[in-house]
Amino acid sequence: MDAWLYAPIFGLVVALTVYIWRLRRRLQLLQQEHQRAARNWEKERKALEKARARLDAVLEQMTDAVLMSDAQGIIIYANRAASTLFGSEGRQLVGRSVPEVLRHHQLVQTWQRSQATGQPCEAAVELPRQRRFVQIAALPEAHGKGSLIVLQDLTRLRALEQVRRNFIANFSHELRTPLASLRALAETLTAGALDNPQDARRFLSLIVREVEALDRLTQDMLTLARLESGREIWQRAALAPRDLLAAVTERLQQQADRNGVVLELIASRNLPLLQGDRAALERALMNLVHNAIKFTPPGGLITLSAQAQGNAVLFQVRDTGPGIDPEDLPHIFERFYKVDRGRSSAGAGLGLSIVRHIVQEHGGRVWVESTPGEGSLFCIQLPLNDR
Ligand code: ADP
Repeated sequence: MDAWLYAPIFGLVVALTVYIWRLRRRLQLLQQEHQRAARNWEKERKALEKARARLDAVLEQMTDAVLMSDAQGIIIYANRAASTLFGSEGRQLVGRSVPEVLRHHQLVQTWQRSQATGQPCEAAVELPRQRRFVQIAALPEAHGKGSLIVLQDLTRLRALEQVRRNFIANFSHELRTPLASLRALAETLTAGALDNPQDARRFLSLIVREVEALDRLTQDMLTLARLESGREIWQRAALAPRDLLAAVTERLQQQADRNGVVLELIASRNLPLLQGDRAALERALMNLVHNAIKFTPPGGLITLSAQAQGNAVLFQVRDTGPGIDPEDLPHIFERFYKVDRGRSSAGAGLGLSIVRHIVQEHGGRVWVESTPGEGSLFCIQLPLNDR
């Protein structure tokens, strides 16, 4: 065949080859593109999964209860805190209706209001059955017409607020009594008692007594504030139990003599040594002995003792005073608790809470045993191997 016959076939073959080559190249590029997209998609899927796991972990660890409901008001998600708050019978919350889970009418109303208005709604609600005080926030979910319900437990916060209010009320009461006495005494003096030297001396000594009570109150308040702040610096050293009691006896002997009560010390010199802050432990024991002297009528006996008890030392302060009523016993270590609230100068009711703080800081415990009419026995048990 002549060459002219081959020329078009040759041209066709070349054109076809170029076309196929281009097609293959396009396919290759498409394949690469697809692989890149797949890699990206996989990366994004992993990032999404990670974010979701993180969100799940946060929701599960949250102390706030979180519920999500769909457009029909059926729970589609509940975190652990929500299960604890509402799933009292161990039943699953997911799949149940919002009113069935919330049960309390105020909670349900708040959710319904937010559903009806499409606005976030909040309320503070007392839940008597769970003995909780909660803040509910119901937030409508814009896309699916569902809602997000968050419940914050404010029980502890409210209790703290109550403690703070009581504290201020008690402190004001303790301040008011000596201040009112001081004012009355000063007014009596200026109204004429100053001209009578005998009266003047008597009123002045009463003023000194009230000022001393105020001084004791502020000292006790400062000590308590320091102890409760946790910033107290403890000077720990090896201490002989008998030495602690001897130091307390020595410091309070005069007061005991004045009140006509006998102080007796029973403790072996061979007791094991304690690790503790001398000044603080002396203070704790002093408060107990000081109370014993204060409440025991003349002719009474106060016994201070220490003995080894396993891996601890037991200190005891026993008196022959009036004793403490069983209903007061659980409360006397509380701040400002006084059995006889009328007796202003007898103390502010802080002494025993200071004792409890000091003893607890030393890893020990303090308690009281008493029968009315038969005296009281205060015990402090301190471990021997405390920090
Ligand atoms: P106060 O400064 O009023 O003595 P405390 O905290 O030391 O406060 O004591 C609280 C209350 O416990 C006292 O008001 C008193 O009623 C009671 N109490 C403490 N020690 C004795 C005791 N040895 N005998 C009888 N009652 C006591």
